[in-house]
Amino acid sequence: MTALDELDPATLPRVAVPADRRSAFWMPFTANRQFKAAPRLLDRAAGVHFWTPDGRRVLDGTAGLWCVNAGHCHPKITEAIATQAGVLDFAPTFQMGHSLAFELADALTAIAPRGLERIFFTNSGSESVDTALKIALAYHRARGEGARTRFIGRERGYHGVGFGGTSVGGIVGNRRQFAALLPGVDHLPSTHVPSEQAFSRGQPAYGAHLSDELERLVALHDASTIAAVIVEPMAGSTGVLVPPVGYLERLRKICDAHGILLIFDEVITGFGRVGKAFAAQRFGVCPDLMTTAKGITNGAVPMGAVFASRAVHDAIVDAGSGIELAHGYTYSGHPLACAAGLAMLELCREEGLFERALELEGYWQDAVHALDVQGVIDIRSIGLVAGIELAPRPGKPGARAYEVFTRCFESGVLVRQTGDTIALSPPLTFTKAHIDELVGELRAVLQSVA
Ligand code: PLP
Repeated sequence: MTALDELDPATLPRVAVPADRRSAFWMPFTANRQFKAAPRLLDRAAGVHFWTPDGRRVLDGTAGLWCVNAGHCHPKITEAIATQAGVLDFAPTFQMGHSLAFELADALTAIAPRGLERIFFTNSGSESVDTALKIALAYHRARGEGARTRFIGRERGYHGVGFGGTSVGGIVGNRRQFAALLPGVDHLPSTHVPSEQAFSRGQPAYGAHLSDELERLVALHDASTIAAVIVEPMAGSTGVLVPPVGYLERLRKICDAHGILLIFDEVITGFGRVGKAFAAQRFGVCPDLMTTAKGITNGAVPMGAVFASRAVHDAIVDAGSGIELAHGYTYSGHPLACAAGLAMLELCREEGLFERALELEGYWQDAVHALDVQGVIDIRSIGLVAGIELAPRPGKPGARAYEVFTRCFESGVLVRQTGDTIALSPPLTFTKAHIDELVGELRAVLQSVA
């Protein structure tokens, strides 16, 4: 146990929201009626733990929502935010500026994949994705190729909830309620081929050829109409799909051959999740644009950032006069978020957090791949991430995994359910003992859920 975990439960307020005050909050991506009838509430957090209002300690196996990479309430980040709030709470970044935003952007380029040297700040992953898509359109237009308006996403991809992100996303359940998505979007097939890849540790050997589907889409639509391809280098929200060996390299080659921009959505994989600062570095493939959020501030203040290559940035900025890109958010480069981001980068350096997932990867994989108990049909892993896929109950997709998630919470570990997959993505500050506890509890629950 680290000092950060030593929260005295006696100091907890122990006030749960009473049943008659649970209606107003329309909860995101939540079964509202089900939740409000039996809420799961979190009250405090420190290090790798949450505490419930009744003082129960819960091991965080999901880094909150893939974002608290350095552990909860890290004093360095808490202090940076508190200090900044008393110095400069807000400053506009439209035609004005403040030092922290320049400092953070500069510091981010120092850890970025080679060539990604310009940073556009947003407030979330969804905003980063829509920003990157708009930058891609503006780039082609600035170069006299305004007919390049199509985007290519991928089946099972998740790119947030903006209209752009929903359109290029490929999770069917996230699209079907919203008929009017962007026109001119097509999708690559998912990289997931369980018959060839099940129980792969790290990158599956099979599937590089699935990137060749992009050639088919180029032939169908003509390259002159395609602006960009967007993929998660490792798909997270759909249930952890690790890219096949050689797949991303081929995607990069095909994009280059046809003048198509390649966007990596690193909202989950950024900031150390797969053993390097970014998945682009882990897999050795550099995109033209990279979307990030979550871990950039350790989840403590909402922030996102789009990393752009010099070529993309310069094409737009050099071609423009006056305001070169008519895009931005009131809170782009918010001072509190910048303070948190700078503190996060400093502690990642001091604590070696970007290397941590790679150091633990062997132990992690041994632990999670031993979860092949009855009912488990696939286990996927890389860095400090794992997806454990369960056989669905007949006619009730997701029901078994949902029960595993709720039972785990009752027994003191937080895991994430997505469809029939249990996703694990703990803080990078996890120790081997934490891995043993998380996997041990999950195993017991998996064995008890029919
Ligand atoms: N892109 C990816 C790959 C994500 O995983 C997510 C969220 O999980 C998003 C975009 C959206 O981020 P946000 O919820 O911050 O808008």
